[in-house]
Amino acid sequence: MDSLFAVEKLTTPLEEREDIVTVKGLNKWFGDHHVLKNVDVTVKQGEVVVILGPSGSGKSTFIRTLNALEEFQQGTITIDGIELTDDIKNIEEIRKETGMVFQSFNLFPHMTILKNISLAPIWVRKWKKNKAEKIAKELLERVGIPEQANKYPGQLSGGQQQRVAIARALAMQPRIMLFDEPTSALDPEMVKEVLDVMKTLAEAGMTMLVVTHEMGFARQVADRIILFDFGEIIEVGTPEELFDNPQHERTKAFLSQIL
Ligand code: ADP
Ligand code: MG
Repeated sequence: MDSLFAVEKLTTPLEEREDIVTVKGLNKWFGDHHVLKNVDVTVKQGEVVVILGPSGSGKSTFIRTLNALEEFQQGTITIDGIELTDDIKNIEEIRKETGMVFQSFNLFPHMTILKNISLAPIWVRKWKKNKAEKIAKELLERVGIPEQANKYPGQLSGGQQQRVAIARALAMQPRIMLFDEPTSALDPEMVKEVLDVMKTLAEAGMTMLVVTHEMGFARQVADRIILFDFGEIIEVGTPEELFDNPQHERTKAFLSQIL
């Protein structure tokens, strides 16, 4: 049990585990534009799912919908046994379960790193300041930058800021982490430090859905890869299946562009 990450590392084979995310028949439109088409996804506890696909294929919309950052029109989404509705209480429950990390770090520029991490637990989890700050410091240690606690975001590199953003999401003790291209805005030399933190998190047993173009990470860390195109799931498989033996023409076309 890694209490800091609020998850337990399971040793049972993936196929025997409970589903922690279940998406059935999900459809979403932006006006007339059909952006998610009959999407079905299940994710097991502790599973790492990487989402690939061309720009505009609906990857961000899909993971934002899981966290109720976007509305949807058809289908069901169930996260850790809670079905997502448009009830605000229900949305708050779902958001407590799911941490999200975006391409842009979105840290509060006028607050110290420690404050950035401890703010939401104090307000939402109702933790005492001492407890929230203690956990914030432990998380900073885990993401490798304990010495940055009293600095402001602008004083940190992009890679360090993104590690703070990960720590901030983890401070809420989510059971699922959603990442939307967390390294796309970083200078190349900073990508690895962020991917390494994500790898550590995966190894600790966190359930993760990760949109990324980092094929090395996908191959090494993903249990399963989902390929989106035009709002549809085109192909699902293990990294070996998808990279070494793609079944669909559109998967082959996508891979030939990026590999
Ligand atoms: P990806 O993350 O795969 O690049 P997105 O989920 O961002 O794709 O976008 C999917 C489609 O939805 C794109 O055609 C995009 O232009 C459109 N879209 C995304 N967000 C909005 C929005 N807020 N309003 C209207 N259309 C949007
Ligand atoms: Mg996107």
